[in-house]
Amino acid sequence: METVFQNETIKEILARYRRIWAIGHAQSVLGWDMEVNMPREGILERSVAQGELSVLSQEFLLKPDFVELVEKAKGIEGLNEYERGVVRVLDRDIRISRSFPPEFLREMSEVTSQATKAWEEAKKSNNYSKFEPWLDRIIDLAKRAADYLGYEDEPYDALLDMFEEGTTTRDVTRMFDRLEKELKPILDRILEEGTVPQSHPLEKEAYEQAQMERVNRMILEKFGFPLGVRSRLDVSAHPFTTEFGIKDVRITTRYEGYDFRMTVLSTVHEFGHALYELQGDERFMFSPIAGGVSLGIHESQSRFWENIVGRSREFAGLIYPTLKENLPFIANYTPKDIYLYFNMVRPDFIRTEADVVTYNFHILLRFKLERMMLNEGVKAKDLPELWNDEMENLLGIRPKTYREGILQDIHWAHGTIGYFPTYSIGTLLSAQLYYHMKRDLNVEEHITNADFGPIKAWLREKIHRWGSIYPPKELLKKSIGEELNPDYFIRWVKERYL
Ligand code: MG
Repeated sequence: METVFQNETIKEILARYRRIWAIGHAQSVLGWDMEVNMPREGILERSVAQGELSVLSQEFLLKPDFVELVEKAKGIEGLNEYERGVVRVLDRDIRISRSFPPEFLREMSEVTSQATKAWEEAKKSNNYSKFEPWLDRIIDLAKRAADYLGYEDEPYDALLDMFEEGTTTRDVTRMFDRLEKELKPILDRILEEGTVPQSHPLEKEAYEQAQMERVNRMILEKFGFPLGVRSRLDVSAHPFTTEFGIKDVRITTRYEGYDFRMTVLSTVHEFGHALYELQGDERFMFSPIAGGVSLGIHESQSRFWENIVGRSREFAGLIYPTLKENLPFIANYTPKDIYLYFNMVRPDFIRTEADVVTYNFHILLRFKLERMMLNEGVKAKDLPELWNDEMENLLGIRPKTYREGILQDIHWAHGTIGYFPTYSIGTLLSAQLYYHMKRDLNVEEHITNADFGPIKAWLREKIHRWGSIYPPKELLKKSIGEELNPDYFIRWVKERYL
């Protein structure tokens, strides 16, 4: 295979990096297996194995001679863009990895694994007090993490940057200010005028898993997903995508047994994540620039397929025959029913089940609370009330249980504070990419004809082929000539829902 890496120092770095890559590969397999196949009690040994592999990987990354090589490469002039990408990614990994003392990482991993257990119990019994002390410890750990990493304006910046390189709290605040101001009146109008329904009889229709599995596979086939060749579709409690490399990218879905839009749209969503990895440049294989660059860019790909493609009129028409063939109850409904069912808008409590219009309010709520934890010394005991007040302020509804309020997400138990905004970044960006794509393609016609090649080729050219060479903001400048702009999403919501 032709190589894009010419420089001798870079070649040496990559030869050593293979070991780190291999550990990552093994960790992905273990992680996938844990969610898809592992019997419940396997968790103890699995998490120890995972932890030890992380330590091993960090040891290789921070070996003095490896760090020295990367330092040396930073000073070399005339590297090509691929080589500069390798240096950029490794330099960042080393910097982040070196920021944390080993005893801090150990404490983090112990606290989060116990916090996750406490969260599970608290959620099951709707008893917040079981989780509260752990959340205080997590907030403390997050503050210390921010201090170790360093920041310019506020601690939240340091955490945000870990998940979305180069994005600041100020960027996110500006994004949400605009969104809140514009989206609230739109939501009110949708609900008042009933342009789309708030509920649909299809939500109640029951299906059998085998039927739905056939539907999902047929949809993936239409997309040209290489099932069995470079990918798999499996079942897990929370749908996800994992890549072991460019040639083995796997997705999962879940089957509730009713309300089939959930499994269809989550399969389509994960397909978008997978396509990003599958369409990467094969010449980057085994290197640190293979794979998607950030969570926000990744989510823009999944949201593109879920919202722009999966929730379109054309897609409803396209999959209607497949649905009818496999689900007897579809005979009582029309393609227009499917479209409306996929596009209901209804203020509700659970983020993961939220519609396109209310979704970003769920993220804004979490962003506000996380900033209070980090910057304003808010304690865990005050958070449920703050959550409920904010929910009422944003969506006009007030949770009656912790389960439909503060205890719904696993993220804080995992210690990931600063992650949520990437969901909104991705959602907004998917609409922005769509309008740029429309300048070059008749997107709707391609969906109608199940001719997804041109859409995939466009995404490959603009986003996928670049792997992690460029940080997110630079990638966008390069591919669409502008930075993230919420106006596109607002326009899309207006066109779709008003
Ligand atoms: Mg996703």
